[in-house]
Amino acid sequence: MSIQPIYLSIILPTYNDADALTHFLPQVLDFATTLQGQQQVLVIDDGSRDTTTDVVKQMMSSCPASIQLQLISLSRNFGKESALSAGLAHANGQYIAMLDADGQHPLSVLQQMLTMMEQQPQIDMVAGIQANRPHESKLAKTLKSGFYHFIQDTRRYEIRPNAGDFRLMNQKVLQALLSLPERQRFMKGLYAWVGFHTVYLPFTAEMREAGESKFNYASLFELALVGITSFSQKPLRLISRMGFVVSLLAILYGMYIVLETLLFGNDVAGWATVAAGIMFSAGIQLICIGVIGEYIGRLYEEVKQRPLYLIAENISSHQASEHKQNDIASETNSTDTPRKIMDASKATTP
Ligand code: UDP
Ligand code: MG
Repeated sequence: MSIQPIYLSIILPTYNDADALTHFLPQVLDFATTLQGQQQVLVIDDGSRDTTTDVVKQMMSSCPASIQLQLISLSRNFGKESALSAGLAHANGQYIAMLDADGQHPLSVLQQMLTMMEQQPQIDMVAGIQANRPHESKLAKTLKSGFYHFIQDTRRYEIRPNAGDFRLMNQKVLQALLSLPERQRFMKGLYAWVGFHTVYLPFTAEMREAGESKFNYASLFELALVGITSFSQKPLRLISRMGFVVSLLAILYGMYIVLETLLFGNDVAGWATVAAGIMFSAGIQLICIGVIGEYIGRLYEEVKQRPLYLIAENISSHQASEHKQNDIASETNSTDTPRKIMDASKATTP
């Protein structure tokens, strides 16, 4: 049997979103059947504890032959960034799309992205920009804009606010992303870092099909920390500047004390100032150690070289042709060590 090349790979990371997926996956499959040729729909189950795998397996039986519906179940919840990386490592299409599995990213916009890339071959990636976010609180908006402002560490590339994971890319961008071996994957930053000709397409996110957002303030804060430590050295520079300022203040204050003693004598006053000064400098030192520790902790994560994710199960509606597809992928990517790096986990695939 000759294997047709895949035109579009759609990656859907999902975590405990079975209800939403029940509605959205059929829509994705319908959309894929409207396209010419062979398509791949990759559901990355990020360690869901609900019926996600059953939902996908059930749909495999009725999946049209022009669609390779693939379910990759990670061995536990590794987080959306890792789930996306798993999807990218297994995407074989000419174009690769990433969509949230909860139905918030409209398929009509994906169609627009495809049309743009087909008509303008110079475009390597179309990124969705969430135009208006009516459900986001003022505090969240302020924190996010502050974060993006802070993280812009260089004029060489720009991490666009509100440009998320909803995007369509070609193989060039895919290979570039796969070539990044780091474990701390702040994807929004990596898309910008790899460069290539990117255009931005504003869109309005739909309401979730079902369920609730998995990202609360704590997880967004953690993601922001990953973003800052992997894309900016500003905190390290800030603490050295803070050190200079505090030292300068200490010298000035020391001179003031000497002068005061010479002019007015010393009546051993000012213990409160000494106590406050010690606490102030101790506090600053702890903050500085914390900042450095944050970077060292992330370095530690990197040097351990653990795989980004582990795969518990990898099944496909085209199971028979699966091996051939993978062979083709590794042939066409023979220079592609990163695919192998990221795929160290494949060894665990049964
Ligand atoms: N998701 C995931 N792993 C996680 C958290 C979320 O794969 O650890 C998936 C989730 O199922 C959804 C997408 O990532 O398809 C976006 O998550 P969510 O809707 O919770 O985020 P929001 O849209 O609120 O930013
Ligand atoms: Mg969502």
